[in-house]
Amino acid sequence: MSINYLPKLPTHLSIFTSQPPQVFRFRPPFFTAALPSTAQDKPISNLSSTITTSPPSPLVYTHQNLPLSEETQIEIPIEKLFVPPETDVSSETARILKGSNIVLSNYARDNSLVKDAEFVKSSVKTEDCPDEGLPEFALVGRSNVGKSSLLNSIVRRKKLALTSKKPGKTQCINHFRINGSWFLVDLPGYGYAAAPETSRTDWDKFTKDYFLNRSTLVSVFLLIDGSIPAKKIDLEYASWLGENKVPMTLVFTKCDKRKKTRHGGKKPEENVQDFLELISAYFQEVPPWIMTSSITNQGRDEILLHISQLRNYWLKH
Ligand code: GDP
Repeated sequence: MSINYLPKLPTHLSIFTSQPPQVFRFRPPFFTAALPSTAQDKPISNLSSTITTSPPSPLVYTHQNLPLSEETQIEIPIEKLFVPPETDVSSETARILKGSNIVLSNYARDNSLVKDAEFVKSSVKTEDCPDEGLPEFALVGRSNVGKSSLLNSIVRRKKLALTSKKPGKTQCINHFRINGSWFLVDLPGYGYAAAPETSRTDWDKFTKDYFLNRSTLVSVFLLIDGSIPAKKIDLEYASWLGENKVPMTLVFTKCDKRKKTRHGGKKPEENVQDFLELISAYFQEVPPWIMTSSITNQGRDEILLHISQLRNYWLKH
């Protein structure tokens, strides 16, 4: 599928990403976005915020009586938003998913709800993967990045991802069918120090083959630990996907872990910005990205809406 991006406009977007979000305010000339998300059956408007080009005079909303100092704000130039095709961000109803650069389109529908999830099969080659022609989304990331936790969080099942951790399956392409209509795919983790060099090379080879040749792959979800500074291996992985034009969404994990700045650690928002900056040379446009936590479920419903709009667009084209 082809993805369109916004033309450059002389404005910015602000996102408040505290978890849970406490405060947001309009501050001309920035766009603002932030709203809490918890229940999966919430209406779309509760998972997003309106983008407005003509904000009212400064205004503060306080959701919980948490101190203003905990507020974290990211400013994103509008050309760095991910705008799905056929989406008009100049309209007053344009919305952005919380904790992300993803604009909601008319393709985001109620079918984002996960009602049913089942393990289908493990494959070691792209040709062996299910041939049902359903759209699929593949999770990949460094070992320990939180891939299993995220998968379980997305499908709301505590142990579904254990299936792909069973002996013999960790090095496979594991397909899970969701609602009988799309696949979530668990790919082997990379960068596992204990793995022998030869088997590491094999996984790399078949995973890359899968990325390049799986025609029903709608987007790779590359998981990056948002609680630590960028790692070389993740930057290499992201740039390989960028160079090979594999559709990718960056999913930052563990965003509940907030390092104290007095100890020299950076906040997840800062790690996200650093990562995006470091890979920018490899991408013509900024890929969609989203911040998540499997502890607080931050980003879970937003990922499902993102999947829903990509999937509905893919099915129509
Ligand atoms: P995998 O190897 O990528 O499948 O990673 P796991 O899902 O098994 O998680 C690795 C470790 O990170 C475990 O100790 C998890 O409890 C922890 N973890 C996973 N997700 C999160 C998260 O969102 N926040 C925090 N604080 N820890 C997490």
